[in-house]
Amino acid sequence: MQKRKQFLAERKCHLENKRAAIEGRLADKHMPEKHRQYKLELLKKIAEALLQIGNGSYGFCKGCNKEIPAKRLELRPEAEFCVNCQERKERDAQTKNTETRLINLAA
Ligand SMILES: [Zn+2]
Repeated sequence: MQKRKQFLAERKCHLENKRAAIEGRLADKHMPEKHRQYKLELLKKIAEALLQIGNGSYGFCKGCNKEIPAKRLELRPEAEFCVNCQERKERDAQTKNTETRLINLAA
């Protein structure tokens, strides 16, 4: 239990540093709009992760509800999905993009 507490404290610190770094970057007015949108999305995820650390629900996959491995959270403390679900999600998104493209081509 003590270990989890320490792990969460570290992730919290990591998330707060990441947030501060992104906010610093967003101050740059020359940042391309697409880039800015992505950073804003990331800020939302970070805020949510911090909230989850506060209420104790942090670190579970939104797809399969299993615990996300600590190693993954160390690299990406804002991760919402385990690697399996993330890959599936990206594959689905890609399939959808391809389908949209094909539909657009056909039209
Ligand atoms: Zn999962």
